[in-house]
Amino acid sequence: MTDKSMLVVSAHSADFVWRAGGAIALHRKNGYRVKVVCLSFGERGESAKLWRKGEMTLDTVKAARREEASRAADILGAEVEFFDLGDYPLRVSDEALLRLVDVYRDVQPAFVLSHSQQDPYNFDHPLAMHVAQEARIIAQAEGHNPGQKIVGAPPVYAFEPHQTEQCEWVPNTFLDITEVWEVKRRAIECMAGQEHLWEYYTRVALQRGVQAKRNIGITAKRDIQYAEGYMRLTPAVVGDLA
Ligand SMILES: [Zn+2]
Repeated sequence: MTDKSMLVVSAHSADFVWRAGGAIALHRKNGYRVKVVCLSFGERGESAKLWRKGEMTLDTVKAARREEASRAADILGAEVEFFDLGDYPLRVSDEALLRLVDVYRDVQPAFVLSHSQQDPYNFDHPLAMHVAQEARIIAQAEGHNPGQKIVGAPPVYAFEPHQTEQCEWVPNTFLDITEVWEVKRRAIECMAGQEHLWEYYTRVALQRGVQAKRNIGITAKRDIQYAEGYMRLTPAVVGDLA
């Protein structure tokens, strides 16, 4: 067991499930405290199936998305906090930014996961990564709320966007999620509003699994079937290059 924590900053209520559900389940299994912040519910931009039901309002869609994301977080073992800032467009006030700084100081994450820094299909996603990084830096500042425990320098990773090439996202880290794949799949199936993505993200995990395996070499005994790709944005500081 460990006393470590991790933080996920998700623009919309389902992003953390597709893109980091394996990391959450795996680290939780290894004893981490996992905190997920959903900046919005994705009520306008990522709830197409719910809107097609007809007679939906912004509030009923938000309620449905909150319920789905809460169930998925429960399955993965994460604490989830909804900022409800709205989506399409997401806008983050200074007040919301400082609320995220408070989360950093409370959680003291060992690492942070958020979106790719580019995404021409979705401007909410890079904004979420921007505020995740900005809040991290403020949380490090001695002069912000002096007396509180500042955070160290948790590595920042961009999880996988929907269209990797257009987002200039290249994985440099693969996380073997084989042992928790079933948990991730159950969490994915909570996302009834985006059922069209269930199989898509299963295929992504299988593809990344093959690539992860290729990167440890065929002599390695480890049987990786499912993986998540990450693009580490902060330099790794090591004492051994092997
Ligand atoms: Zn999203």
